[in-house]
Amino acid sequence: MTTQRTAPSPGVTLKTETAVEMLGVHKWYGEFHVLRDINLKVQRGERIVICGPSGSGKSTMIRCINRLEEHQQGRIVVDGIELTNDLKRIDEIRRDVGMVFQHFNLFPHLTILENCTLAPIWVKKMPKKDAEEVAMKYLKRVKIPEQANKYPGQLSGGQQQRVAIARSLCMNPKIMLFDEPTSALDPEMVKEVLDTMVGLAEEGMTMLCVTHEMGFARQVADRVIFMDYGQIVEMNTPDEFFRNPQHERTKLFLSQIL
Ligand code: ADP
Ligand code: MG
Repeated sequence: MTTQRTAPSPGVTLKTETAVEMLGVHKWYGEFHVLRDINLKVQRGERIVICGPSGSGKSTMIRCINRLEEHQQGRIVVDGIELTNDLKRIDEIRRDVGMVFQHFNLFPHLTILENCTLAPIWVKKMPKKDAEEVAMKYLKRVKIPEQANKYPGQLSGGQQQRVAIARSLCMNPKIMLFDEPTSALDPEMVKEVLDTMVGLAEEGMTMLCVTHEMGFARQVADRVIFMDYGQIVEMNTPDEFFRNPQHERTKLFLSQIL
């Protein structure tokens, strides 16, 4: 059963019905063909879970969405804006697309509060006081306002990852990308991060999550994608995906992780 979706807050509203569209996308690393004809249309408010073996191209695919990686063939359109070499448009897209990584990527020499206010102050030109207010709002949301003046190294992995999510939310993103946000965490910290992600999903955030947390996929995903060798091998509702996988490669993968 999927979670109930409440009305999206105004800040997360996309301009177009289609949040992300990838059409015939190919990418190479030198000679290596890493993405092969990716076709994917993500609707506003949709929650997509992406799984697949290590090296199958999951990170590369979602990193193309905010141009951390460049595709060489095909089209990628994010909330109506096509990704080209136009730097202004890339900036525009990056402002709307938040990303959370496996290894948190917090700035170690800045406090938790400073990590959260840096981009709003420098990119959005928000006054410091307002940025701090927004940051505290989201630190409360991820349940660690009391850590605001500490440094990342003083926090547990689970807390750092929740800071990374709060930091993204401070930019008021319309789409969130998660790249294995729980795979570097000790098991007892996985739940606190997943709970935060479930909360976001329930609020109607458009999300693409690379994760092997299949409980999360069952709970919140509208669609689950299985990737292998740079291709989308299978894409289905969680119910169908787990009950009735179509491809041998999907069956094999599921038998290894479930
Ligand atoms: P996944 O996230 O599914 O584990 P990735 O998207 O990270 O897979 O990587 C897909 C393939 O591309 C892997 O074989 C990886 O070694 C290769 N790859 C990733 N990044 C680079 C890079 N910057 N240069 C060359 N090869 C890369
Ligand atoms: Mg990866």
